[in-house]
Amino acid sequence: MSLCPLCNGIHTQNIVCPHCTTKMKDGGKIENYYDPYSPYLPNEVLQQANVVDTKQCIHLFYCPHCGYDQHHLADLWLAPDLS
Ligand SMILES: [Zn+2]
Ligand SMILES: [Zn+2]
Repeated sequence: MSLCPLCNGIHTQNIVCPHCTTKMKDGGKIENYYDPYSPYLPNEVLQQANVVDTKQCIHLFYCPHCGYDQHHLADLWLAPDLS
């Protein structure tokens, strides 16, 4: 079983805005923004969704200063086997 460290709040990704070097914020999983079956989904996102496997979680990072946003593929962590 794997989990996303960003969704679970056990890890924060430090990403700096390429435009203004402000530390970008994690806006959460991209599924929170797009309906995966929406016909209005941008092609770019569709392509990313197609190549992403189950070991990654797509997050939307945004810059609170200039509004720039970008996707980040978070590697999932293997949950410790407690059995
Ligand atoms: Zn996640
Ligand atoms: Zn910025």
